[in-house]
Amino acid sequence: MSRMSRPPLHRPLLLPGLPRIWRGRTTLQVGLHPGRAILLDLPDPATAKILDLLDGTRPERAILRAAGTLDLSPADVRALLDVLHETGLVISTQRLYPPALDAPSRALLLSEATALALAADSRQPRFAPPALILRRRRSARIVVTGRGRLGAGIAVGLAEAGIGHVQADLPGPVGLVERIGGPLREAGVGTDRKHAVAQAIGRAAPSTDTRSIRRGTATLVVQLCHDQPVALLALAYLQHRQPYLAVSVREGAAVIGPLVPPGGRPCLNCLALFRQQPPAADPAPAGSDPAGAGPSELMMSGPEPLAVATALAASGYAVAEVLKFVDGTATETIGAEIEVSAPGRIRRRRWKPHPHCVCGQSRRWPEGQKP
Ligand SMILES: [Zn+2]
Repeated sequence: MSRMSRPPLHRPLLLPGLPRIWRGRTTLQVGLHPGRAILLDLPDPATAKILDLLDGTRPERAILRAAGTLDLSPADVRALLDVLHETGLVISTQRLYPPALDAPSRALLLSEATALALAADSRQPRFAPPALILRRRRSARIVVTGRGRLGAGIAVGLAEAGIGHVQADLPGPVGLVERIGGPLREAGVGTDRKHAVAQAIGRAAPSTDTRSIRRGTATLVVQLCHDQPVALLALAYLQHRQPYLAVSVREGAAVIGPLVPPGGRPCLNCLALFRQQPPAADPAPAGSDPAGAGPSELMMSGPEPLAVATALAASGYAVAEVLKFVDGTATETIGAEIEVSAPGRIRRRRWKPHPHCVCGQSRRWPEGQKP
């Protein structure tokens, strides 16, 4: 085993869910993933008992004291901790959770924090510990607004993933269909949807703030189907430098994107301008020049047809995109739409900024003359 000089670990936690397999009398494998699994050479196999003490409740000094009562060599235990810490399989709880997180929230977020730790490589210099990511999520404010069956699932999913403030601006009554494949199963048909989603968030992640978020101050808005003209909607977001992610349902598929960062392009209006073209030209919209009238609107009628499995997959994809934006990692939907037609069946469609869209014109306006 390697030995390293390091300060004592603050309540070390062996990442939960890692399989352990004995590969001989003194060799223990921890983990199965080829890039993560390690082989521990334990001259005294009883040293493996220490792994059960790495549950995030004891400081390292207490673990070393416990080793003494188990007749284990403190040097062997220290070396074991060194290896597990060096490979990222043991993490200090300080790096797993933000310090301000209360105990019930920690319990709810254990799985999320562990998954973040497993997804990242702690040996990389740009490694962002789960505590940092969860702190960003805790301070994030997300609005989910508009009409659409996916709204409730996205709002609750974001709260469950640790977003601290989620406003479900989803007006209207709960319909029968939206109780299927989402978190509104317990909501009565006809009850107020905003209230029902806030209640669902309260059950899933009680510490989440669900109050209204002042316009223009959200970290990100998830924009579902909208009643206002797309040009006005996109312009309002542009004026407030409000980032947003479009989510809609079209002909049995969910469409996620584009994500429009502050001042970013293309915007929703760019896509509408391109869609004004005849269907024959639709597959290759980028770079075209549909001069003429304003953008056509996608008119939807009746309930959104969407298979339950597709709705679940699409909600998960949308939640992941929001979290990537909040976490500061690369998203898939800037300048692109992701069409989810079934779980595992996605199509990515890239879009360019439209040359006539107001989002580009704003860059040419002199200071003080913006709309
Ligand atoms: Zn635009």
